[in-house]
Amino acid sequence: MDDCIFCRIASGEIPSDIVLEDGGFVAFRDIHPKAPQHLLVVPRSHIGSLNDLELWRKGEGHLLLQFIVRVAERVGVKESGYRVLTNVGRDGGQEVQHLHFHILGGQDLGDFR
Ligand code: AMP
Repeated sequence: MDDCIFCRIASGEIPSDIVLEDGGFVAFRDIHPKAPQHLLVVPRSHIGSLNDLELWRKGEGHLLLQFIVRVAERVGVKESGYRVLTNVGRDGGQEVQHLHFHILGGQDLGDFR
């Protein structure tokens, strides 16, 4: 989608601090980090949110989870621990309408949300 900022980041049209990418997913640093390590993982293809799961190919969710663990390893939080979350819709506080998973770590997150 032309006007979707995460599509444009995933395609390389807009620069970002990419830490890992493959054919299906891209991980880049959040521009307003809420933890020492704060990454966003997005699918390259445009999917609005977790609610649009019907757009996923079979097995893509598993690939996504594997990719998230690889990102955690890449930024050095796999063993110390991290949090993965996705915001959905208005009440979930979703600001960008392209499915993305936050990876937060690098400190004791406690009950941080
Ligand atoms: P959400 O509230 O889950 O939609 O979160 C959107 C996230 O995207 C926020 O944490 C923003 O800081 C982050 N964000 C927005 N624009 C950019 C950008 N150009 N590069 C990196 N992160 C961004």
